[in-house]
Amino acid sequence: MSDVVERFLRYAEIASMSDPDNERQTPSTPSQFDVAEVVANDLVDVGAEDVRVDEHAYVTAHWPASPGAESLPCLGLLAHIDTAWQAEDNPVHPRIVRYGGGDLVMGEVEGRIIKTSPADNPTLANYVGDEIIVTDGTTLLGGDDKAGVAEIITMLARLAADPSLPHPRIAVAFVPDEEIGHGASLLDLDAWGATWGYTVDGGYIGECSYETFNAAEAKIYARGAAVHPGYAKGLMVNAVEAIMKVNALLPQKERPEYTEGREGYYFMERMEGSCEHAQATCIIRDHDRASFEERKRTLAEAVAQVNAELGCECLTLRVRDQYYNMREGIEPHRHLIENACAAFEACGIEPYSEPVRGGTDGGRLTFRGLPCPNLSAGSMNPHGPKEYVAVRDLEAMVDVLVDLVGRYARAQAAVDPALEGDLESQAA
Ligand SMILES: [Zn+2]
Repeated sequence: MSDVVERFLRYAEIASMSDPDNERQTPSTPSQFDVAEVVANDLVDVGAEDVRVDEHAYVTAHWPASPGAESLPCLGLLAHIDTAWQAEDNPVHPRIVRYGGGDLVMGEVEGRIIKTSPADNPTLANYVGDEIIVTDGTTLLGGDDKAGVAEIITMLARLAADPSLPHPRIAVAFVPDEEIGHGASLLDLDAWGATWGYTVDGGYIGECSYETFNAAEAKIYARGAAVHPGYAKGLMVNAVEAIMKVNALLPQKERPEYTEGREGYYFMERMEGSCEHAQATCIIRDHDRASFEERKRTLAEAVAQVNAELGCECLTLRVRDQYYNMREGIEPHRHLIENACAAFEACGIEPYSEPVRGGTDGGRLTFRGLPCPNLSAGSMNPHGPKEYVAVRDLEAMVDVLVDLVGRYARAQAAVDPALEGDLESQAA
């Protein structure tokens, strides 16, 4: 078994879901400290410098530049240690199977066979004859994003084993609670010291993505008037009904289950209440900033219309922007995309880029001034028990990362006008 596979299996076995119901606390689950400790020990073992696990389960470390590359910008690499909450914190039982084509069976759960096939997952057809890591079907695998964690640490082990490999100073961060929207938010970027970087948290091998949704979360609060239903005519205002009226006014086909590619949506994610009080969370997603703003207006108008119909201020709306499309922050640093694509090609992998239908940690970092596209980690079918990771993708991503850090050991400032400006202002 290769070292990246061995590391991945050890990390995957530690169930470390984040918990959306405990998002005020970071990490949202104590089990994230368990995986943080294991990851930190591995970083010490491979020889990383200033390895640290902080009180929020952020694992950070540095790796000194190879001779001659000391003055070049520090490159950041990030992955997240939490998994989606569908794991229910049950023990994860990862195992390696040889895929012979047709159904890929994870296991049997309460009489149901948990399986996937090229029919519902076309990329699976690329792995006939390969070793694939799956669970027993009772949990997700957590390749999202423990594959990324294992790949980055194994890349460092490769640098330690071969001092002739060139690389700039590298900063690594393994962050908690990415799946519930925190991720790198508490990372101290000044102390971490990277000029730019990559998250290794994407899907199918070859991915270099730098476009995400623009995202907002809307909370709709409804205050009704409860009266005996038999004598309610003209008196009752049903808070639950009021929110349902808002939902009915939103475009019916612009919902997650009807959209793909660059199509945005409204998603009534959560709703609870009674006649007296109700509340709902509606999330808004769109790659295009103008139509994102338009969607927020549409929702506000729907709320106003229902209030007008009911003749009272039954509904209140609070909208909070969560993150923005990172594209505008990446484009001035095209080398991040060009170098990643070149590294994939050098390893015989066809690079591709697609608009991410979500956000990434890198998107938030980009808006904090650290441009950070997202690279494939190799987790397929994430967030459910049918998740799988191919052994050869884990191994290939280590080669890609070794090649990529090598490219940043060459003078980069010459191809990054944005950075040249920085260097000039530092000199002044
Ligand atoms: Zn992820």
